[in-house]
Amino acid sequence: MTSKVQVFALGGTIAMAPRREGGVAPGLNGDDLVGAVAAWTGGIDVAAETLFSLPSASLTFAQVAQVAARARAAADAGASGIVVTQGTDTIEETAFLLDLLLDLDAPVVVTGAMRAPSQAGPDGPANLLAAIQTAASDEARGAGVLVVFNDEIHTARFVAKRHTHKPSAFVSPLAGPIGWIAEGRVHVPLRPARPAPTFAWPAAGLPEVVLLAGPPDDGGRLVRALLADPPAGVVLQAMGAGHTPRHLAPLLGDLADRIPVVLASRAGAGQTLRQTYGFDGSEIDLTRRGLIPAGMLDAPKARILLALLLADGADRARIVAAFDD
Ligand code: GLU
Repeated sequence: MTSKVQVFALGGTIAMAPRREGGVAPGLNGDDLVGAVAAWTGGIDVAAETLFSLPSASLTFAQVAQVAARARAAADAGASGIVVTQGTDTIEETAFLLDLLLDLDAPVVVTGAMRAPSQAGPDGPANLLAAIQTAASDEARGAGVLVVFNDEIHTARFVAKRHTHKPSAFVSPLAGPIGWIAEGRVHVPLRPARPAPTFAWPAAGLPEVVLLAGPPDDGGRLVRALLADPPAGVVLQAMGAGHTPRHLAPLLGDLADRIPVVLASRAGAGQTLRQTYGFDGSEIDLTRRGLIPAGMLDAPKARILLALLLADGADRARIVAAFDD
């Protein structure tokens, strides 16, 4: 039986064309993208639809929720898999949000390009072809939302963009990729032991969760501003294993008395520690003051999980358990 793959195009470098004023900007549609790889997709029935034509920094989570709804509808209508093409700047967030909104057996694969079609050696066609092959494969079924880049298959939970322009920008620093594509064949020798939890998209949208940078010698202006006008939640992108300047710890504790404050790391890989460092401003000090360790999630992904939990009415115990998992 022919596999059917539905491609949803959202914009990004993969769909960008030169502008007269200079630079590239979204201009190609889903049919253009699929047309460029038609010579290699024989045996797969590929349909394309352009949902948005945006640089990914301007995609909203509500728009990603629309993509999730369209992916579910496509799977219900018989698609064997779904591919989402978009800008690479926010793939790590889009893929993770899709993973938390969907529990499809059909593969949902997010991809894009680091080089625009007008640049030398564009990577978009190869990434799209590999994503279509992954979405059509039995190997990728039931593995959650995936990100395919540079012939590697990454889980939404662990993938991160770690370079501003190289085609090898996507990595999974904590766990590595779970598979690869070679000569058109999809290999998935690893898969997550536990599926991600699934949330319904809240009708009122997501509550505001602020991502707070936590560099050394920070005077605390932003923490004081958050105390004066607290959002629904905060994710602190702390240093190292979960550390902040000692003079900020009491202020962060005051904030955690009022709203959930999740303690993530800016290190780029590795979980937030819980019981190693005991100095003022350490992870032991901060968690005693009420901050919640982000566990294996980095700050951008922790922000999405916290927002979905708050929208779902989660109390502190559930939030702690969700990040502990
Ligand atoms: N490098 C980004 C991309 O690959 C720029 C723009 C965007 O994220 O949409 O698409």
